[in-house]
Amino acid sequence: MAATKLDASSTVAALRRSFEGGLTRPLGWRRAQLLALKDLLRHGEDELIDAMRADLGKPTVESRLTDLSFVAAEIDVMLRHLDAWASPERVRVPFAQRPGQATIIREPLGVALVIAPWNYPVHLLLLPMAAAVAAGNCVVGKPSEISPATSAALARLAERHLDPQAVAIVEGGPEEAEMLLEQRFDKIFYTGNGRVGRIVMEAAARHLTPVTLELGGKSPVLVDADADIDVAARRIAWGKFLNAGQTCVAPDYALVHERVERRLVDALARTLRTFYGEDPKRSRDYARIVNQQHFERLSRLLAATSGTIACGGEHDKAQRYFAPTVVSEVLPDDPLMDDEIFGPILPVLRVGDMDEAVQHVSSRGKPLALYVFSASKSSVDRILERTSSGTAGVNLTVQQLAIPGLPFGGVGPSGMGAYHGRHGFEAFSHRRAVFSKPTQLDPPVQYPPYTKIKEWILQKML
Ligand code: NAD
Repeated sequence: MAATKLDASSTVAALRRSFEGGLTRPLGWRRAQLLALKDLLRHGEDELIDAMRADLGKPTVESRLTDLSFVAAEIDVMLRHLDAWASPERVRVPFAQRPGQATIIREPLGVALVIAPWNYPVHLLLLPMAAAVAAGNCVVGKPSEISPATSAALARLAERHLDPQAVAIVEGGPEEAEMLLEQRFDKIFYTGNGRVGRIVMEAAARHLTPVTLELGGKSPVLVDADADIDVAARRIAWGKFLNAGQTCVAPDYALVHERVERRLVDALARTLRTFYGEDPKRSRDYARIVNQQHFERLSRLLAATSGTIACGGEHDKAQRYFAPTVVSEVLPDDPLMDDEIFGPILPVLRVGDMDEAVQHVSSRGKPLALYVFSASKSSVDRILERTSSGTAGVNLTVQQLAIPGLPFGGVGPSGMGAYHGRHGFEAFSHRRAVFSKPTQLDPPVQYPPYTKIKEWILQKML
């Protein structure tokens, strides 16, 4: 159901009434909704897997691994730690302020808006919504219109499983999102591209609403001369071609030491044959490009490169199939190096050493992820020290997301704020500072008139 203007304001008003009435504050309610979200995932599993296959040709195993089970596992972490996260946190009181008790109380912000993209359409909508609920907020979720089957399935399932007084899913595209953004929210959590991220932040500024922006960018993978090349090829190929390259933290391009570049390119080609067979089009384990517009964008990019297609390159418009493709001999000014590729094309650039790779990375905006493959700890440390990124992986790709204790978010143009595990709870909470004092003792030393003796005592105490 698409929202009308009246729907957007009345939807938010109804949720605000629920929030102000205190519905979502009790930990019991939050726990019940988290369990309801798990039920939604369990009972809706087939429906969601079918929907993601219709939208993205997503393989069942990937739908389970990166959408359904991923969110369920994070909800388990929330359930396990909710009491501790929501408990007041005592902080030290300096001598001059004693006696007294200082605490930080996590309070819910109010009504939150979550706007999600299409590439992991269940994960990127439900995980922030779960964090909002765990922190005691009401929440509106807006799935992406670009994955319409999943959007419709999520709306149906939410209606069946979640508390309509506190949780709403509003389907639609930019128009509906803009209508929602006209409303006053207490938190906006947006995942998607940076152009829309700017629109969201401008809209949020009108109400001074805090934002978390989970954006993208060109995430590099650096491969040093001493890296284990077979392992690197497998881990890079998995992270890059998962979901046909439509992954925000996929390695976008590779900067490879010249001594191992040829070996890595050959190993990638071999690995891709092992993963997807001689004809990946027939593999059940390889996804499709989400729509014709993205398919054409990728076709144009590949046509424009002056690099050498080392493997892949085939594409079929009717099936929105784009082969896993590795392009070698790519130069820094190649069209493949302009914007985030967000598809199954891996440009490989040759570098003389890792310092050259670092210079290349530092000359661009800070990426969402940076990956290093190297056997040398000092080389890894040197690279991490001289670059910045939202997250980093050493001898791996993408898997840093699976550690709930690690914050997941960007820096600079790749975003602001973070979530996962406790960090998600914090993203939807206000840390309220509370200091309380007993009344039995009330020495007059701090009150005017400030006599010489009081001044002396105050100086001594501070
Ligand atoms: P998208 O086109 O689905 O857009 C994201 C959301 O923004 C959708 O819900 C859409 O309806 C909404 N939207 C579109 N135009 C809008 C407007 N004018 N005003 C308000 N809302 C609007 O997804 P996308 O942007 O193509 O997603 C891909 C991008 O997202 C890539 O850059 C990728 O790296 C990034 N991404 C980041 C993460 C992360 O966690 N950091 C995860 C996934 C994707």
